[in-house]
Amino acid sequence: MAEPLFDTLAIIGPGLIGSSIMRAARAQGVVRSILATARSSETRARVVELGIADRVVETSAEAVEGADLVIVCVPVGVCGSVAKEIGPHLKPGAVVSDVGSVKGSIVRDMGPHLPRHVQFVPAHPVAGTEHSGPDAGFAELFEGRWCILTPPEGTDTAAVERLATFWRKLGANVETMTPDHHDLVLAVTSHLPHLIAYTIVGTADDLETVTRSEVLKFSAGGFRDFTRIAASDPTMWRDIFLANKEAVLEMLGRFNEDVAALTKAIRRGDGDALFDNFTRTRAIRRGIVEAGQDTATADFGRPHGHDD
Ligand code: NAP
Repeated sequence: MAEPLFDTLAIIGPGLIGSSIMRAARAQGVVRSILATARSSETRARVVELGIADRVVETSAEAVEGADLVIVCVPVGVCGSVAKEIGPHLKPGAVVSDVGSVKGSIVRDMGPHLPRHVQFVPAHPVAGTEHSGPDAGFAELFEGRWCILTPPEGTDTAAVERLATFWRKLGANVETMTPDHHDLVLAVTSHLPHLIAYTIVGTADDLETVTRSEVLKFSAGGFRDFTRIAASDPTMWRDIFLANKEAVLEMLGRFNEDVAALTKAIRRGDGDALFDNFTRTRAIRRGIVEAGQDTATADFGRPHGHDD
């Protein structure tokens, strides 16, 4: 087997994403050893039981001492406090990264706590499912998915390339962009769709004239696909909307204008406007399938996964 890319990998927060990284990194032999730590003793014990780490330790500070690659895999809102805790314990030359779904706030929250002798390369693997915790992870999660790196200005290009190679070895395609651009792109491709799903499932639940059992029974009419997205972790999504407020509000404003235009077309019986709109969106769907980002199955996304 080829030389590992990093000697020791430390994962802070071995949930869906963290434990998937651990499984994939081990399967691909890209690191020599894996250390993990979690907030709760239950998760730490479960990671030991699953046998997906070489060592499980109690604190984040302990996990990063001696680690060559540190990946923080906790909800976006707590990345700053984790950075503060690990900052003084990081090994000189280590690469520090994360997997947060928002990048501007991560750079602002984590950056100031990290010493100059480490390289900070924030990342977002655009892959996930609606499940959480170490049992939900799997080694193939990142295969054929995109991982976006958002290195702050002045980051050592060798460190960026090393992390890019790490993600490629886990099966992902890698792209680099600024944190702000990432947040705008993800606001429309991920954050707004989740907001719509959360809203529509709530709307259906509030109906008085249509019963809940009817909603469940006839859900294959489209509703079912929204429910899977709306089952995503509430903590994670609360943090995403708080952290990406500006970009989400910008996209939501545009979306509301477009909904208003469609509302008008329906009210006026303007079939041409509706048809033109639906024709354009059908082409976008075909483009996603052609780009290998989904199969042509009758579901919102992959049968067992979606991209956050
Ligand atoms: P998850 O399965 O719920 O795992 C979260 C991990 O963070 C757990 O180990 C949890 O520890 C720990 N944690 C939670 N709150 C914490 C706190 N206040 N302090 C310290 N540790 C805490 O979540 P996930 O889906 O892997 O998401 C993790 C990160 O990945 C998030 O930043 C999210 O934005 C990003 N992301 C998620 C997806 C997705 O589809 N899920 C996709 C791409 C990126 P305990 O188990 O001990 O509670």
